[in-house]
Amino acid sequence: MSTIAGKLLRIDLTTGTHREEDIPRSHFAQFLSARGLGVKYLYDELAPGIEPLSPENKLVLGIGILGGTRLQGFSKWSVVTKSPMTGTLVRSFVGGNFGVWMKSAGYDQIIIEGMAASPTYLTLDAEGVHHLDAADLTGLDPRETQQRLKARHGVRTEAACIGLAGEKQVRYAVITAGERTASRGGVGTVMGSKNLKAIAIQPGKRKPMAHEPARFDELARQQIAMLRTNPRRKALNTLGTPYITTVLMEKGILPVRNFREGSIDGIAAITGDEFLKVKEAPAGCYGCMTRCGGMRTVASGPYRGTQIDGPEYESVFALGPLLGIADRQFIIDANAVCDFYGIDTISAGVSVAFAVELFERGVIGMQDTGGLALCWGDRLGAMALLEQIGRREGLGELLGQGVKRAAEVLGGAARDCAVHIKGLEIPGYEPRAVKGYGLSMATSNIGGNHMYGRPRDELAGKVDPLTEVGKGASIAGNQKAQAVEDSLIACTFGNSGLTLEDYAGFLVAATGIAELGSVDELTRIGERIVCLERCFNVREGFGRKDDTLPKRMLTEPLEKAGPASGQTVADLDTLLDEYYQALGYTPDGVPSPDRLAELGLGALG
Ligand code: SF4
Repeated sequence: MSTIAGKLLRIDLTTGTHREEDIPRSHFAQFLSARGLGVKYLYDELAPGIEPLSPENKLVLGIGILGGTRLQGFSKWSVVTKSPMTGTLVRSFVGGNFGVWMKSAGYDQIIIEGMAASPTYLTLDAEGVHHLDAADLTGLDPRETQQRLKARHGVRTEAACIGLAGEKQVRYAVITAGERTASRGGVGTVMGSKNLKAIAIQPGKRKPMAHEPARFDELARQQIAMLRTNPRRKALNTLGTPYITTVLMEKGILPVRNFREGSIDGIAAITGDEFLKVKEAPAGCYGCMTRCGGMRTVASGPYRGTQIDGPEYESVFALGPLLGIADRQFIIDANAVCDFYGIDTISAGVSVAFAVELFERGVIGMQDTGGLALCWGDRLGAMALLEQIGRREGLGELLGQGVKRAAEVLGGAARDCAVHIKGLEIPGYEPRAVKGYGLSMATSNIGGNHMYGRPRDELAGKVDPLTEVGKGASIAGNQKAQAVEDSLIACTFGNSGLTLEDYAGFLVAATGIAELGSVDELTRIGERIVCLERCFNVREGFGRKDDTLPKRMLTEPLEKAGPASGQTVADLDTLLDEYYQALGYTPDGVPSPDRLAELGLGALG
């Protein structure tokens, strides 16, 4: 017995066929599941240089080894693909019940390949996979799409779907499941490029059974007891992630006005306590007692009068202070517009901030904005641009390609205002105020992402956040640990206070794979996953030149940022050298043949 299903389902949209495949047990021992397995399959199966929005790209959906069990905070699911934003690999995680249903149907992974000839949706039930006409779902928002599928196929149907933005190929479209989204890197755009509107699953009969059931149950009981008393979990349960907005501003980490400043007047209106006042019900993922979400009522726009699950911190930052806005209800309503069209709130917010700065500098004018006079703090203008992005109309046509591509089209000063790493917009952590975080984002194999190696010691103030030396090894260590967590989809919030040692105990009781009981071995697996991602990117032509930060962070002193005021990242080269050395990469950022061999990846050398 094991909590591993041991099978994947491969669906070919071009031919309308599908087949089951065994996943070798050695794959789980070497790459765990979710992110790790996704990377392994994509590295092996994607030819170098393929266009991310072509039928040659694949979507790998996965759930973790511990997903669907009694353990708390392990039941989100993952999407891994080649990103249309960056050209690198990308992995994005999402809640909802979809992943658990997938496992109950008997699969750890679903690989979707090819492209349907016309708008299609898939259903998966006891009889197999059905390729169905999605013409009547075309243009529907994710919520309406899911409701229609439940009405048609039964209330227990769980679906993953895209909105209008995914259909129209806005480059940072999301995949939605329930009220949650796989947000980053354009995973919904890839789904749309395959003419795939939705995948609907019926729950199966298979229950994940632990290898040592009594031991596993005892560990699950201990985990719940531990989480009950953890203060961070309790804060997340009550306030959700918005509570960190003020904490970050005190340290100068909160990005304001397109990453030029680190504080905003009126912050008191958008604190965690303020968002708590309008939280009407808790919300969260399957199998999670933390339930960090919260349902709030939308006051304007297409979802007016209904509730959404949100906003979480990244949406607060991107749709609020980054645009010079400190208005709680605007942030909720703007979040709803992003959800309605199915676009990533981070990339959308950064793209709107980019446009406001361009307008301020005279790079674009009212002839480009459809008559909008953009300025910081302008709610109407920001909302209009979000709508244009979602519909891919007006200036939204350009902004919906992301700031890197938009700056390439506009040229000149626009390049200085485009805040991205490898083509992916930066999330809500200012690299000039936390230099190790800057290194982690610069070296991230998926572009600008805050969850690729979160420097907890730096954020907690145990390490000087402004120092630019001595951080390479710790960031490399954070990235390895994060790769393990992502490959189990151990939610960083829903497992507050737990460590790799705890996960090792869970894994042995769940699977009987003895080597997974060693923290050293888990760390080695994490490094192997990061290394294989790097090999994928090297094969695509990425290297040290791409491990960088936006020019703004390297040369423009951060303003109004408390203890981080005046900071730049002055010596990224030293940080990079240390990091490469810690991982056994060459000075060009390429894994050395010796390190590949040590990680069991020698064939790639
Ligand atoms: S803590 Fe929040 S994001 Fe994490 S699993 Fe629980 S509800 Fe989902």
